[in-house]
Parts: sequence; C-alpha cells; structure tokens
Amino acid sequence: MEPLILDGKKLAGEIEQDLSLRVKKIIEQSGKTPILATIIVGNDPASVTYVRMKGNACKRVGMEPLKVEMPENTTTRELVDKISELNNDDRVCGILLQHPVPSQIDEQKCFNTISVEKDVDGVNTNSFGAMTMGLPAFFSATPFSIVSLIKRYGVEVDGKDTVVVGRSPILGKPVAMMLLNENATVTICHRHTVDLPAIVKRADIVVAAVGKPKFIKADWVKDGAVLIDAGYNPGNVGDIDLENAAPKSSAYTPVPGGVGPVTIAKLMEQTVIAAEKKFGI
Ligand code: NAP
Repeated sequence: MEPLILDGKKLAGEIEQDLSLRVKKIIEQSGKTPILATIIVGNDPASVTYVRMKGNACKRVGMEPLKVEMPENTTTRELVDKISELNNDDRVCGILLQHPVPSQIDEQKCFNTISVEKDVDGVNTNSFGAMTMGLPAFFSATPFSIVSLIKRYGVEVDGKDTVVVGRSPILGKPVAMMLLNENATVTICHRHTVDLPAIVKRADIVVAAVGKPKFIKADWVKDGAVLIDAGYNPGNVGDIDLENAAPKSSAYTPVPGGVGPVTIAKLMEQTVIAAEKKFGI
C-alpha cells in the first residue's frame, strides 16, 4: 500500500484560514492588531530566512510582525534587557527569540526571561514543565507541529513504540514528553545511545530530530513504520533518508512541506491565543 503523506503545507493552510478569522475578530473587538515580536541576534542566513518566513506568516493571518535585530556580539545582559522591555510592552502579544543565538549568550536564561504569557514558542522552562505535567501551557512549536500532524492524519500513537532521535530542549525532549502524554511508549536517543539502528528498527513511530542530513538510513526502519522527519538541512534535506525509507513506511512527513510549515502555523496559533487572552476575546 502507498504510504500516507502527512502533508504539512495543507495542514498549515487550514490552520492559517482559521487564524485569519480569529485575528479579524480580535481587531474588531479590541481595536488592536496583535503583534508578534521576533528577535534575531546576528545574521545567520538560515535564521534570517526563518524570521522572514515567520514575519510573512504573521501578515498573512492579519497580525503585525515586529522584527528586533541585535548584533552578533550582543551579551546575555543586553538580550535579557531587550526581552524584559518586550515583556513590558503592552502592544506585544508574543515574543520569539530565534534559535540558535551566538555562543557567548546564555540562551536558556534568555528563553526563561520571556514571560510565560508571551512565550508563544514554548521555550521557557516553566512552559516546558507545565506541558510535561499536562497543565495548560504554550508548547514548543516544532513538537506541537509534529503532534498536530499525527492527530490531523489519524496516526495511532496510543501504546506505540516510539523512538525520538535527538534530545534538544526545543525539539527532542519536548516532543518526547508530548508523545508520552499521548500514551506512546517513548525511547529518547542521543549521541551516547548504544546501537541506534537496532533501537530505531523496533519503532512503530520514528521521530528524527538530529540535525544531520539523511542520518537515519532506510535499512534501520521497520516496514510499515511512521516516519516523522523534523530535520531541515541545507539542500532541503531532512534527517531521514526519505528517498529510500519513505516507500517502506506506512506514513511520513515530506521534507520540505512536512513539519516546517506547521511549525510556523503553530507559532501563529499560539500568538493568536495569547492575543485572545490579553484582549479578553
Ligand atoms: P540540536 O540542538 O543540534 O540537537 C541535535 C540532537 O541530535 C542532540 O540531542 C544530539 O545528541 C543528537 N545527535 C546528534 N548526533 C547524533 C548521533 N550521531 N547519534 C544520536 N544522536 C545524535 O538540534 P535541534 O535544534 O533539535 O534540531 C534538530 C533538527 O531539526 C535540525 O535539522 C533542525 O534544522 C531541525 N529543526 C526543524 C525545525 C522545523 O520547524 N522544521 C525547527 C527546529 C529544528 P546529544 O544531545 O547527545 O548531543
């Protein structure tokens, strides 16, 4: 049987359509246009592209992007001060700090400075803790995208042997917790994992969050497994060798057009929720 394509472009379009109506209602009822502030430190080309894409998505749904550009040599103190300023700015509904920041900056300290009400990218450890405990919180956007794709296309998660490769604070760890909350049996793998191919081989669901092109090989994958590829590497290539692995899967996220577009849509959705709360809609 042909594998099911978990089409992220399509889902992102559906989400944006709904958000446009909700933003219209916010503006009508409050007289204010919600603002998403995006902070970019330095000029890493990939980050510049991501920030531009997020700004465009903001405009598509009727919100206003506020781009804050800071130089490469910014200190943790300066970034913390800028975030505090945005926390106190009444016009701003959501704050996104583009990851990664230059190495001299304590990224998690800056993430934790973002007030929980404006943490629409779900990077604050308080947001992570609440999400893990199943309490209301903004979710990290890429993990939220993955779980949304799984639900939208009716992929069964309950009791499934699920292997997450990668344990970063913005992706691997939170997606593992979210899938655990959906009753998957989750294994988290990383550089110290022994015999990764054997662990991936037993998985019903594989989530790749490694940051290495085509790292997960087709012969590591069980026939009929679901493949979720969060990787986005130069040349529009994911972390799974999808060309060879997708045909033996039961469902997969394409790269591009899978996890990426929904990540941006989920960021917009959480900004709209923050705005609705702020303006009492
Ligand atoms: P990251 O912070 O570099 O984390 C990579 C993870 O992979 C780490 O936990 C690392 O393990 C693990 N890893 C690296 N090499 C490994 C190996 N040989 N064997 C086993 N594990 C290994 O990356 P990230 O920020 O999570 O991003 C991962 C990927 O997702 C990248 O391709 C990125 O572009 C993509 N991404 C996509 C979106 C989107 O919206 N589509 C958003 C964010 C990220 P250790 O912890 O042991 O070092």
